[in-house]
Amino acid sequence: MRNYSSYALIKNALTGNTRWTPAWRNARPRKNYEVIIIGGGGHGLATAYYLAKNHGITDVAVLDKGWIGGGNTGRNTTIIRSDYLLEENAGLYDFSLGLWAGLSRELNFNLMFSERGAVTLAHSEAHLNQLARLANAMLLRGVNAELLTREEVLKEIPVLDGGAGTRWPVEGAFRQPEAGTARHDAVVWGYARAADSLGVDIVEQCEVVGMNMEKGRIKGVQTSQGVIAADKVAIVVAGHTSTVAALAGLTLPVESHLLQAMVSEPIKPVLDTVVMSMAYDGYVSQTNKGEIVMGAELDGYPSYSQRGNLPRIEDCVRYTLTMFPSFSGLRLMRSWAGINDMTMDGSPLIGPTPVDGLYINGGWCYGGFKTIPGSGWAFADTLAHDRAHRLVEPYRLDRFNTGHTINENGHGPLPQHH
Ligand SMILES: Cc1cc2nc3c(=O)[nH]c(=O)nc-3n(C[C@H](O)[C@H](O)[C@H](O)COP(=O)(O)OP(=O)(O)OC[C@H]3O[C@@H](n4cnc5c(N)ncnc54)[C@H](O)[C@@H]3O)c2cc1C
Repeated sequence: MRNYSSYALIKNALTGNTRWTPAWRNARPRKNYEVIIIGGGGHGLATAYYLAKNHGITDVAVLDKGWIGGGNTGRNTTIIRSDYLLEENAGLYDFSLGLWAGLSRELNFNLMFSERGAVTLAHSEAHLNQLARLANAMLLRGVNAELLTREEVLKEIPVLDGGAGTRWPVEGAFRQPEAGTARHDAVVWGYARAADSLGVDIVEQCEVVGMNMEKGRIKGVQTSQGVIAADKVAIVVAGHTSTVAALAGLTLPVESHLLQAMVSEPIKPVLDTVVMSMAYDGYVSQTNKGEIVMGAELDGYPSYSQRGNLPRIEDCVRYTLTMFPSFSGLRLMRSWAGINDMTMDGSPLIGPTPVDGLYINGGWCYGGFKTIPGSGWAFADTLAHDRAHRLVEPYRLDRFNTGHTINENGHGPLPQHH
């Protein structure tokens, strides 16, 4: 892989940074490939990279209708954690967290992975019990988890207003110390560069508009740049999983909803961990640049607009200021939305489909950034061997027929509540 060595950094600094070669080629699609991956987000690119690196399958194209990372991977709040209760989720999320730790070195690209920990605040006895159960489950499977008292929380997060007498007094908290954040664009660019260097074609501005099938088997895709044949096709398109799957005649148990996030102007470091609250399903962190990142619940109605509504921004800011009143003087700099494919049990859909050679990796609801390395790894293995890797096997599409749903939040078949 082309190297970002100290020598290269110095040489390019001395020549005004005008002589860097592009990090990946601007590939033109060939007539056919062994594997086509539809979607150049984190999951699609990670899958391509592990197909090439772990399985030697380099005859691969990643097609994106826009620019890579223009979907949810470039729009999320970058929280990485594996504090999941159910065994079916624990395997993949723990494995993924393990991969994050060495990923910058492996890809030779600084992903700015920051193991700053993630704290979930409890505001009642019931919340505390729930978090204690989660911590015990994690400890039993050998994953680090801590419970904090109210005093410890307030000492460690002095900017938080959670004492007795506040709107949402903090009763205690759960913390996963190895959780954290990473720079979302860097994740896309790092995987793209590494996959490209192993021979994968990354084709931007190439929308898939149809599927070619024969006798129940995938033969290729129709795109805005022509027909491309392939032995295997993987749909990895986050907020468009059901529309792209429909091109192959598949109907999925998915509703697509908007999720917003926003950042304030940058300020000096005041918050050195990720804070989530059980009072309002919201999350707050501070970027390395200094911006305060805020996010909360879905907008509340299905949409493909990729543009959020003002009332939800107001809710999110109100929740954040209730917990962090000192942020009230900050200006809001940017807000944006992503389309989240919400499944009926809140867990992703990964694996082969009823169409031979056609695979799906989607339905990530609002939790798929953290799993990019692990899902890419296991999905590549699935594609290479034509059967689900054990880490993604529980997410098979037919689980709604067989009753093996994976309902981490226990909300029932109400996608907007997962
Ligand atoms: C506001 C927000 C906050 C979030 N916060 C977190 C968080 O803190 N932690 C976390 O773990 N997760 C979070 N998520 C979820 C996470 O961002 C996603 O689950 C993850 O990025 C999905 O990655 P992906 O590669 O599957 O999809 P994407 O990054 O969306 O990539 C899919 C790509 O497919 C392309 N595409 C679509 N249709 C076609 C077509 N017909 N032809 C060709 N290409 C096509 C799109 O252009 C897009 O680039 C958040 C999401 C949002 C919106």
